[in-house]
Amino acid sequence: MALIVQKYGGSSLADSHKIRNVARRIAAAHDRGDRVVAVVSAMGDTTDELIALAKSVTPHPDAREMDTLLSTGELVSCTLVALALRAMCMKAVSLSGAQAGIRTDARHGKAKIASVDPTRVLAELKKGNIVVVAGFQGITGDADVTTLGRGGSDTTAVALAAGVGAARCEIYTDVDGIFTADPRLVPKARRLDELGYEEMLEMASYGAKMQPRSIEMAWTYRMPVLVASSFVEGPGTLIHEGAKMAARSGKRKVGEIRKRVRGIPVDKNVAQITLLGMKDRPGLAASLFEPLAEAGIGVDVIVSPVGVGGTTDFSFTVKRTDLAAALKVVEPAAKKMGCRGVVKADNLAKVSIVGSGLLDEPGYAAKMFRTMADANINIEVITTSDIRITCVVSEAKVREAAQALHDAFELDRHD
Ligand code: ASP
Ligand code: MG
Repeated sequence: MALIVQKYGGSSLADSHKIRNVARRIAAAHDRGDRVVAVVSAMGDTTDELIALAKSVTPHPDAREMDTLLSTGELVSCTLVALALRAMCMKAVSLSGAQAGIRTDARHGKAKIASVDPTRVLAELKKGNIVVVAGFQGITGDADVTTLGRGGSDTTAVALAAGVGAARCEIYTDVDGIFTADPRLVPKARRLDELGYEEMLEMASYGAKMQPRSIEMAWTYRMPVLVASSFVEGPGTLIHEGAKMAARSGKRKVGEIRKRVRGIPVDKNVAQITLLGMKDRPGLAASLFEPLAEAGIGVDVIVSPVGVGGTTDFSFTVKRTDLAAALKVVEPAAKKMGCRGVVKADNLAKVSIVGSGLLDEPGYAAKMFRTMADANINIEVITTSDIRITCVVSEAKVREAAQALHDAFELDRHD
């Protein structure tokens, strides 16, 4: 009898019919002999609707009030799922994030889980209950409700799985698993059977639709995560530590390695900020990036060209959804730094190739850039990690770029 955590996304819970479907799936897992903790997102587009509702009351809603408001979306779905389970004569109880022991820091809107106290969840399981937990939320030391950032229910699920010592975490969604690329952009995209944590972290951070923090957490606790559809039965994608090893030995002949490029994530939530013509001196970067960090704004793809004639520029990307908040911080800082001007661009996107060992082999970068050149797509900025190469391009060209790269690296063929 295994203990498993299942998470259901908002599109799997969009109406009462779908809620009953989710309840049936949870009940089936229970009937197979597993003990189940289910983590749920808000129904359909509830979170977006609540945000719009708050903004119709005031253009700049207070972050603390906002978190309490948004947490109600998940409370609605967890209680409805528990009711549906009870209607099927199953023993079930719903818990808010606070009741489930999810403690966070106090950064409203993007709180981090500080600890999970599994006492209550384990006690309910012991009573024979299926436990349905509201995702995306937690509570601070001062008993204020917080939310974990968009897509945060994934992180709730993995944290709870680690906290209660589950055998695995299953993420059920409206797609069949993790694909080589977003099938809406690249119709030839193919489901991957398995991925390593590091690969999945890069895929998630650079566009695949899972909260990156959930993968970091899974990696830290070596928690196997299965991503699969809540609508159709299928094998899904298993994210686990053994992925690389298995794919490199397993069915393969000695000396044969699997295809290095595993996926082509695309991220359109990108904006670029450029500061022009500052006098070069020590401390310039710190005086810009410290206040951004204090405001909780993540910065990526930082470029600082070699200063000419004693002046220098800075360019970096932020999430497009963070652009207004970032500019609020950057503009006064730029003034202090004696900057000649601040330019923003919000028509950019990132396209990446991801796979273990990419940078060991120089051919991959060259092939990526050649592919972009042949497709006549201009690359604005390039960044790399050990297992990823990212190009910032015009958003209008990103679909074409993803398709060309998918073909060039033959991702439609099995590896
Ligand atoms: N309901 C929240 C959101 O839409 C959290 C989640 O779905 O995971 O971002
Ligand atoms: Mg949602």
